Amino acid sequence: VTRESAVTSEVTRLAQRLVRARSANPPGDTREAAGAVETALAGAFDVTRLEPEPGFVSIVGSHSFPRPGRTLILCGHLDVVPADESAAGGWTRDPWAAEINGGWLYGRGSLDMKGALAGMIDAARRTVADEAALRGRIVVAAVADEECGGRRGAGALVKEAVTAADGVIIGEPGDGAVCIGHRGMCFVEATVRGKATHASTGGGVNAVMSMVRVLGALEGIELTHTSDPLLGGPTIAIGTVISGGSTANVIPDLCRATIDVRKVPGMTDDSVLADLRGRLASRGVSDPVAFSITASVEPSVTDAHDPIVAVSADAYLEEFGRPPEVRGMSATTDGWWFRNRRGIPTVTALGPGKIADCHTVDERVSIAELESYARIYAGIIRRFLSADGPDVVGS
Ligand SMILES: [Zn+2]
Repeated sequence: VTRESAVTSEVTRLAQRLVRARSANPPGDTREAAGAVETALAGAFDVTRLEPEPGFVSIVGSHSFPRPGRTLILCGHLDVVPADESAAGGWTRDPWAAEINGGWLYGRGSLDMKGALAGMIDAARRTVADEAALRGRIVVAAVADEECGGRRGAGALVKEAVTAADGVIIGEPGDGAVCIGHRGMCFVEATVRGKATHASTGGGVNAVMSMVRVLGALEGIELTHTSDPLLGGPTIAIGTVISGGSTANVIPDLCRATIDVRKVPGMTDDSVLADLRGRLASRGVSDPVAFSITASVEPSVTDAHDPIVAVSADAYLEEFGRPPEVRGMSATTDGWWFRNRRGIPTVTALGPGKIADCHTVDERVSIAELESYARIYAGIIRRFLSADGPDVVGS
């Protein structure tokens, strides 16, 4: 451990500081982690602080080179999913200690995605020292609330602070690829109301049995869509959470169940709801079910021929010696806020590690990979903002 800490790089040390600044969401308080980013950016960046709701702090650090040119945004989220620290939680290490062992940095958020955020800050700091070689503007956006939809993070950012740019890189784990799109998502809540009575009477209307018929009829539903060349088709998971009834001898008067739907371009929340209702009608299910949308993210796609994609692929090739796979991803990121709300070409995930390893017990990131991606981010900045680049002026 002593030997390893002796060679710890600046990017790893910054990642450790961020992991130690607890920012579990819920509740989503990012003040401490935002403070660490503010300190890391102080001096060379103009720093703006956004706090649309108490505790949900995002930091925007901006540096303009003397000559005008493109604007590049490097974005990562400050919040992390909670970590169960009880014995039952399964962690074999302190999730907030940012321990280093065997070439790995451990801790909640090390992979998703404080490591990558540290890499972006490190890359931005290194390249701003290089005034003469670059033009335009570099923006580091460290945002709150990604794990709960992003409205109080990237959503506030695209509304208030960053309205135009020429490219965005989101440093989420990309499974070794350059991801340029993500599917959308909606959570549907199904509610059935019945009529409670003493279970011995043989009367009442059992809401749980109504829900059984509803969910059974929805199983195997085909959602209306056109297959997307980048994102493929939708998926639906029926009954991801279910609750109903209060005790063994009362006929339940209420049952709720959730349905997770992943959308591709062309699908909307309304088209999903119409599909669900149509399926019940065609199966002859007349139970009184109400559907509502409790969370929604739009699918997002950036043109594979956009300059930000080519520049990302070049920087990747330079680091790893092979071209990346350029593709879409099934999970969502903050990418759609920039792409869909502001029309900015966006790489939705380019960062160390795999999506499947996020939100896990003993979460960790490979330090060697983290350092590789820090160099890739620096390579993207140098290429996208290069002095002989185009005269595009973002704002
Ligand atoms: Zn993430």
